[in-house]
Parts: sequence; structure tokens; C-alpha cells
Amino acid sequence: MKKTVDVLGVSISNVTMAEATQKVREFVKSDSFHSIYTPNPEIVMLAKQDPEFHQILEEADLVVPDGIGVVIASKIKKNPLPERVAGYDLVQNTMKDAVKEGYKYYFFGSKPGTSEAAAEKMRETYPGIQIVGTRNGYFKPEDEAEIIADINNSGANILLVALGAPKQEKWIEANKHLMPNVRVAVGVGGSLDVMSGNVKRAPETFQKLGLEWFYRLLKEPTRFKRMLVLPKFLVKVIFYKG
Ligand code: UDP
Repeated sequence: MKKTVDVLGVSISNVTMAEATQKVREFVKSDSFHSIYTPNPEIVMLAKQDPEFHQILEEADLVVPDGIGVVIASKIKKNPLPERVAGYDLVQNTMKDAVKEGYKYYFFGSKPGTSEAAAEKMRETYPGIQIVGTRNGYFKPEDEAEIIADINNSGANILLVALGAPKQEKWIEANKHLMPNVRVAVGVGGSLDVMSGNVKRAPETFQKLGLEWFYRLLKEPTRFKRMLVLPKFLVKVIFYKG
């Protein structure tokens, strides 16, 4: 079985959710830094227009299909990915093992107050979990050294970065060499908003039917313009000769 599946030129890791969760376990036990990114169709399309971002995805240690559209694209090209591996669910799965595995999380990103609220909620959900630091995602370049020092001093081995794509991936790439104790950095997009309870995920029935994107559209109609990229993505996939 191929280790990656080509979706419009972006290499997506050919893993199930269980395998991705196991990878995190191995990464944290290792002695080096690993990056995990979670592209949906919008992000794949972004990568096509931004070679620097595309390169960052290609060099990542794990790239999971966050959106059902990416899985559908792989099936259209007869090189199917096993299942959707949503970044939010992957992080939740790691949290179930957090105490046993000694995971220490730092939440970096989202609006002021959100990362703290997310930490509070996760401490209630996973008693004993270590969330060793939080920082909102609105900062000036001159604040970055202090943010990195805070991440390092916290002793975190898993860093969740919620700055939206491609900002979070570029931030991780630019700063990874400055964080010697971090073993895993994940670009988590809007996940801290969901963990904090400020944003609700689609009910499970929508998720199971592959219609989470539709639920999001109903809830946040302003996303309509962003979502116009989905039909474009599918047309490109159909005509793509990879
Ligand atoms: N964000 C941030 N700093 C920025 C821009 C965005 O912390 O400079 C946060 C924003 O508050 C939100 C997240 O990044 O929590 C991006 O969420 P979005 O739903 O756009 O992510 P995606 O759709 O890329 O998963």
C-alpha cells in the first residue's frame, strides 16, 4: 500500500484514524520535532496557488484528510484513502491517552480568552490532562520570541497551533527549530473554538453522512464564498492527471 495518496499534487498520508493516533504516540516518544497538518479541499486549493505552503505540506510528517472532499477526491482517482481523519477528532483521540502517555499540551491561537476556555473544558473532559500553557493567536512579530519562550518554559511536548491556514503551517515551519522540547505541532484551524464551546460541530448524523461542510454552511452562511471552492476542487480532481 502506498504511504501517501496524491490529491491534486498534495501528498496525503494513507492512514486510518487509529494509525494516525498511533503515529502521534511514536512522535512524542521520539527525540525530534514532527509536524501534522490537516488539509480540507480549501487548503489543497490554497496549496496549488502558494508553492511555499505546498512545500511545507510535502515536508510534513503526517498530513491527514480533514475534509470528506479530500477522501472523495482520492476515490474518484481510484486511489482511495481509508477514511476521513478530522484534525479535531485526531486531537481528541490523543487526549484520551494523554495521562497514560504523558502528553503535555500547549494551546496557541484563536481569539483572546478562547484558548483558556478550551483548556478549561478539556480539563473537565479529560481529568488529569496536562495543558501546560495557552496563548491567543493575535500577536505582533516582536511578540514572537516571548511566545516561543513561553512554549519552551511550559515543557509542552504537543503544540496545537490555531492561526488558520496557511498562517499556522508557515508559523510552525519558521519556528520549529526554536522549540527543542516540542515533539508534535499540529495546525488545528478552528479546533480551539470548538473545544471552548464557542463553535459547535455538526451533529454526528451529518458527520457520518459526510455532510459536516453543509451543516457549517447552514450555521455560518458567510462561509458560502469560501465554499465555492468545493465544486471547483472536484472539477479539478476529475481532470487531474497525476
Ligand atoms: N486566528 C488567530 N490569529 C490570526 C488569524 C486567525 O488566532 O491571526 C484564529 C481564529 O481566531 C480562529 C482560527 O485561527 O480560531 C482559524 O479558524 P478557521 O475556522 O478559519 O480555520 P480553518 O477553517 O482554517 O480550519
